[in-house]
Amino acid sequence: MHCPYCHNADSRVVDTRIADDGASIRRRRECTACKRRFTTLETSLFQVVKRSGVIEPFSRDKVVNGVRRACQGRPVSEQDLALLAQQVEETLRASGVSIVSSEEVGKAILPYLSDLDQIAYLRFASVYRGFKTLDDFEAAIAELRGRQDVPDPAPAQDAVPAGESKAPGARQARRRPRRTAAAPEEPTLLDG
Ligand SMILES: [Zn+2]
Repeated sequence: MHCPYCHNADSRVVDTRIADDGASIRRRRECTACKRRFTTLETSLFQVVKRSGVIEPFSRDKVVNGVRRACQGRPVSEQDLALLAQQVEETLRASGVSIVSSEEVGKAILPYLSDLDQIAYLRFASVYRGFKTLDDFEAAIAELRGRQDVPDPAPAQDAVPAGESKAPGARQARRRPRRTAAAPEEPTLLDG
């Protein structure tokens, strides 16, 4: 890399630091000609292709913003969101590819978000997976329940787990006619 002051092609590294939790390396360099110092930032190329086909650098901020919307009013801190975004990035980078789809980003978010807050998870999943009916929510809730430790391995049909009271009529009026209004074409939490 040329010196930004005198354009000499040679410089020596005087300091190297891991930055951004290991996602990049910052190097302090000194020009061998004019002796002035400058900093370079080295980041491995990691990109996201959106549904529109637009390719952009992976951004933890975008992950945080998308998930934050699903977390409104929930006990989730900014630190939780930052950690989630870091975990998502690490998971995706560990797959070894340099480009992922925004769908894959959403899919990588889901398990971390379900660990963080189940209501936020359902909100996020409803957009990301395009839930159209209450059945979709029911299936997702059943999945969440399945992941929790359930001591009784074989609940009888229609059994109520201990400690949970089942309100009468809770299972009524679940099947309404499907709405014909068009669902949004694509998730908006991440693609905004
Ligand atoms: Zn120079």
